[in-house]
Amino acid sequence: MKSVRFEHYEVSLPKPLFLVVEDVGWWQGYDGSEKNEPYRNNFPRRQCLADYRALARLAEQLSMRIALGMVLGEWDRTNFLKDVPGATWMGASWDNRINQGPWLDEAADYLQEKKEQFEIALHGICHEFWQDGRMQRSEFHDGEDKMRPKELVRRHLDAYATLLDQNGFKGFPRLFIPPALHHSFGNGKDSIQAVLHDYGIEYVTTRFSRARRYSEPIHPKLTWECGVGILERGLSPVDWDVPASLPVWNEPGLILPLHWGNLLHPDPDSNAEVIDSWTSMILEKTRGIERILSEDLASCWRQAAAFFLARMSREDRKVCLDLRDIPDQACFSGAFFLKIREEKPVDITCIGAEILLDTVTPDRIRTLKLLPEKGRQEIVLAVSG
Ligand SMILES: [Zn+2]
Repeated sequence: MKSVRFEHYEVSLPKPLFLVVEDVGWWQGYDGSEKNEPYRNNFPRRQCLADYRALARLAEQLSMRIALGMVLGEWDRTNFLKDVPGATWMGASWDNRINQGPWLDEAADYLQEKKEQFEIALHGICHEFWQDGRMQRSEFHDGEDKMRPKELVRRHLDAYATLLDQNGFKGFPRLFIPPALHHSFGNGKDSIQAVLHDYGIEYVTTRFSRARRYSEPIHPKLTWECGVGILERGLSPVDWDVPASLPVWNEPGLILPLHWGNLLHPDPDSNAEVIDSWTSMILEKTRGIERILSEDLASCWRQAAAFFLARMSREDRKVCLDLRDIPDQACFSGAFFLKIREEKPVDITCIGAEILLDTVTPDRIRTLKLLPEKGRQEIVLAVSG
């Protein structure tokens, strides 16, 4: 833990935790990978509005705008994907009528209504890529983590934008979650990050050990290129194809990556039972000063930079935070949080940052949100009491 301890209190720079739910958006539940179709959620029924309500419940209980890694191929209302090379298993004879119905409007309206709870993240059109009609992993990178030709990647991103537009979702996502963890970074202007940034992507999360690294990340868990901040995703605590999972805590890193089916019940009326067991575990595990639940994507990225790169030390009765290693990148700079375990209330004066928020729980865990002054590289907190 990154903290400094005094006689009656301890100040920490807590590690963030942010929830990402992948493979949201399928209408069909079954895993099609055995018959040249996508890896879906291996869920024993069709997906429905109640499955989005479950996600809103999760977000509300955690007070977090959770990220939904969405696959939108089955939201195609006009079958235009027949003209997008490699986008579906049916190729030029793509026909999505089975998924076109009133549930599209219903779910689209609901996602719009709950936009404060959901950050729609780019995951893919149909997750995989069909080369000469045969399914390959994955949509934007091949099985050896080589990016598909840039023009093809752009074609798929344009199609994703059309799918968003057809369904009334405003704007392009800020976050990309590579499908099946096939990704690459470290090759600058030739990287997929350069392409993604043109579309408005500012954040990526994936497993560094699985990606092709043209150069090493700047920090083992965090790096950036072409205006995109990349964070280590870590391991899912549960396999992607396990429906209605009991909660599992695997001492996650910065991200808790789950798959939609993990959080849903075969009987949609019982979805809340699955959600509630996960949220009570997550809230319990992040109550202390070691961790903090991030309110949203941007807050997680900033907290991660502070957690890994800020230096924290004690000088007499002061806490000093040296921020000089935090890069001057929009996604990593700005407000971050400290937590204090105090035996009794203490007074805090802060030099070099504005305290935007100061809250305390009944068991005396205090949370401070600090906004460093522009250009400031050192913050000093004087604590007394
Ligand atoms: Zn996926």
